[in-house]
Amino acid sequence: MTPSKLPGRPHIAYQGDNLFIEACSVGDLARTHGTPLFAYSQASMADALQAYRSGFSGRKLHVCYAMKANSSLALLQFFARQGCGFDIVSGGELARVLAAGGDPSKVIFSGVGKTRPEMLQALEAGILCFNVESEAELEVLSEVASHSGHTARVSIRVNPNVDPKTHPYISTGLKGNKFGIAHERTLAAYRRAVQLPGLHVSGIDFHIGSQITDSRPFADAVDRLLDLVEQIEADGIAIEHLDFGGGLGIDYAGDTPPAADVLWQELLAKLDARGFGDRQFIIEPGRSLVGNAGLCVTEVLYLKPGEEKNFCIVDAAMNDLPRPAMYQAFHAIVPVHRSAAETSTYDVVGPVCESGDWLGRDRELAVQPGDRLAVLSAGAYCMSMASNYNTRGRAAEVLVDGAEAHLIRVRETPQDMMRAERLLTD
Ligand SMILES: *Cc1c(COP(=O)(O)O)cnc(C)c1O
Repeated sequence: MTPSKLPGRPHIAYQGDNLFIEACSVGDLARTHGTPLFAYSQASMADALQAYRSGFSGRKLHVCYAMKANSSLALLQFFARQGCGFDIVSGGELARVLAAGGDPSKVIFSGVGKTRPEMLQALEAGILCFNVESEAELEVLSEVASHSGHTARVSIRVNPNVDPKTHPYISTGLKGNKFGIAHERTLAAYRRAVQLPGLHVSGIDFHIGSQITDSRPFADAVDRLLDLVEQIEADGIAIEHLDFGGGLGIDYAGDTPPAADVLWQELLAKLDARGFGDRQFIIEPGRSLVGNAGLCVTEVLYLKPGEEKNFCIVDAAMNDLPRPAMYQAFHAIVPVHRSAAETSTYDVVGPVCESGDWLGRDRELAVQPGDRLAVLSAGAYCMSMASNYNTRGRAAEVLVDGAEAHLIRVRETPQDMMRAERLLTD
């Protein structure tokens, strides 16, 4: 029998045989709102944020939620109300921050391919800082800022060349990655930045990857960053803030990432020892704030026994939950109503016409058509990566707060999906 508590997810648990998210029955949510349905626990997000804040207590800290992990407006609104800023990677994300009531003066703008219109939009909104990822971007940003009568505050994203030991697609701090400016080039880039008319040098940053489960790469990156800060400041350029990116992993399948408070107490001891403990700090967590707050409820449509494999065909698919198809990622899949019936081994797959459309392989389940399953750890990089492939509307979403479930996104209709399209006129 599955244990009542699900490890790493204190607000998702069985009461008797029924799965609950906070005080809401997951089965009831599915009956009310249909499936596939994303449900998020607000208490989980609050706890995850608090873990970072405890780690940094007594320090100067801006938490900028890396909203690409999940950019649904009500989640942004929640983090804005908690006093968070946002790490954005596009002009579209900035528009979402504003629509959710976020404070643009707490926004930092990352990404290797910012366009001129996006730079202008961010300057006009008055964002906190641009995290610049190349020397060419410095030149363009200075030009856009000085032509529009603005000064752009900048931080240079350093590629510290450390191996975060995660999936190659989500490692970003190695020499061969497209992100940041090589460690060796950083001082030269700062020297150039202080000469450019449209820029004000404000900070320095790194982001070494995602789903990191070991503190070692963070410690190495911090050391390499501080080496650079010493060189840059010896050159007479002041670094006002230090930004350590995001990337802390979550427990998907018995993964044991360090807790945010433990990790940061360890890293702050290093910062103190090197004399940087009283600086302004920025962190950009994404996955670790929302990943294990969410689940996706799906209904079993058909069971299809086979000679080599049994398939459990559900109504959620790779367009809703793209991580297995993209990164061979593991998501735990648990029944919404537990039964004592005998289990069989299934590949859990969606209806999309691709063999890559699977959600879980070789899972032991006791299921019948009509039963519901919950795909766990679905708060991060699921809805924000969802697509309309196969003209499947994106799922509905609810934000759960105790016994209340707020509908925060209605299920997308065919009309919604076709709205931007035009027929030929002749
Ligand atoms: C994606 C991203 C983050 C967040 O990463 P997580 O692994 O979700 O914490 C932070 N900073 C930058 C620049 C990013 O691209």
